[in-house]
Amino acid sequence: MIRELEVFAKHGVLPEENTLGQKFLVSAELYTDFSEAAGKDDLNLSVDYSAVCSLICKFMQENTFRLIETAAQRLAGLLLEEFPLISGLVIEVKKPWAPIGLHVQDVAVKTERSWHRAYIGLGSNIGDVKWYLDTAVRELDKLEGCHVEKVSDFIVTKPYGNVGQDDFLNGVLLLRTYLDPFTLLDRLHDIENMAGRKRLIHWGPRTLDLDILLYDSLIIDSEKLTIPHADMHNRSFVLAPLTKIAPTVRHPVLNKTAAQLLREL
Ligand code: AMP
Repeated sequence: MIRELEVFAKHGVLPEENTLGQKFLVSAELYTDFSEAAGKDDLNLSVDYSAVCSLICKFMQENTFRLIETAAQRLAGLLLEEFPLISGLVIEVKKPWAPIGLHVQDVAVKTERSWHRAYIGLGSNIGDVKWYLDTAVRELDKLEGCHVEKVSDFIVTKPYGNVGQDDFLNGVLLLRTYLDPFTLLDRLHDIENMAGRKRLIHWGPRTLDLDILLYDSLIIDSEKLTIPHADMHNRSFVLAPLTKIAPTVRHPVLNKTAAQLLREL
């Protein structure tokens, strides 16, 4: 826990705030397993709070944001990327001199971010299908707050139902991400749209389909997003590659592993 690190910086909506600057107080609650560091009394096995404080100061001073919301959220992402031993954190940014013409102790925002594991399903059946899936893997790995950790082999699948369609190429990957599921879905749509625009003159059938299959053991049932993916347990082209990279990952609603679901299908 780092409490109220004092930094003079220039964030704010008013132009004077961006030129004169003011005091900010940054607090960071860091989650890390320090049992090994404690056992061996070794700083190298824990998070060096002096290095964290230096990075917070540097980040706050070298950037100018209109909102402390933006500062807090970007800072949280930066700390997660720079300190691999931090699994999650809460960042609070306080502005004690907020220029509102009234007496207030401070105004503050707090944001929580942590690493999650998401399994993403990939599919394509138009054009250079291998190129689309390879591009999707690359683009996902380039996203802010996302790292592709494992990719299954891609498998050729016969389309069922719709006659006259080309074969599909399908795969699954494991993504380590600090994006929340809804932001992640938006980023997947960006990549799908980009793939569509690159190769097709007119909007046509999908060249690339990206689905969130699982996100930790989270269950979401909303209009925009259903996690676990509503149909994943009925699709061998999802379960087979998923089982290859994560046989023991568990469907949190059906309470069965990927391997079990594949066997039962
Ligand atoms: P699709 O035709 O499979 O690409 O589905 C498109 C829509 O399904 C998206 O616009 C999403 O809003 C919605 N959707 C619901 N749950 C999911 C999920 N787990 N992953 C991806 N899309 C989803």
